[in-house]
Amino acid sequence: MARIKSSTLKELLHRILKTQKDEIGCETCFEGLDRFVELELDGKDAAQALPLVQRHLELCSGCGEEYQALIQALESLQGDQQTH
Ligand SMILES: [Zn+2]
Repeated sequence: MARIKSSTLKELLHRILKTQKDEIGCETCFEGLDRFVELELDGKDAAQALPLVQRHLELCSGCGEEYQALIQALESLQGDQQTH
């Protein structure tokens, strides 16, 4: 414990509490969506990196659809790049 700075601990605690208590709105979700999709397509764990976005996508059908559309668009874009 002594090696952890109290500011780091506070930040961590804040993050945990925030994850449990707050839900992000559509606007915040949308801001993180690009990054989320990027990680996803990169084969990385987007849900772990951006849990609030993941949670919002599960809860909000509007953003969920937006996400699906974005994934599909980028996948077809990547497909184009690979074939050419
Ligand atoms: Zn939403």
